[in-house]
Amino acid sequence: MEPCEVLALSPRKVAYLKFLHGKNRSSRTGEIAAYFRVDPSTVTKAVNELARCGLVVHQPYLGVTLTEEGSECAEFLVRRHRILGLILTHYGLSGEEACREVERFESYVSRDAINRMCHSLGHPTRGICGSISHEYGCCGEEHGDEKV
Ligand SMILES: [Zn+2]
Ligand SMILES: [Zn+2]
Repeated sequence: MEPCEVLALSPRKVAYLKFLHGKNRSSRTGEIAAYFRVDPSTVTKAVNELARCGLVVHQPYLGVTLTEEGSECAEFLVRRHRILGLILTHYGLSGEEACREVERFESYVSRDAINRMCHSLGHPTRGICGSISHEYGCCGEEHGDEKV
């Protein structure tokens, strides 16, 4: 298994991972394809690549499910979307516009940059399109090893 660098995820894969995260259960590739209006073979190809880096499991009759690592990754992708969304709304965009604009570029913003923006915004818990969870990574101060 090759580990997946978050910046190596294409915008399409990011969208699939966020979709699976939102479903909170297994989804058939056909269901994903219908939602994104793409050919099922495109989804199958992306899903197989995600499976190869350990983010999802794809089982013949159950469909696609996020692994623990995949959920953690998706949790970050959602936080990245919502942190960037909040920033754009601070600069004059409506919530809806912010969500749409962020979807155009969110895949290219690194985890480190997001963690720093998250920190500078005071780890907000509410984004424009939902709640923001800080469980993984960004709140090292609060959740890290408390060595003195
Ligand atoms: Zn949004
Ligand atoms: Zn945070």
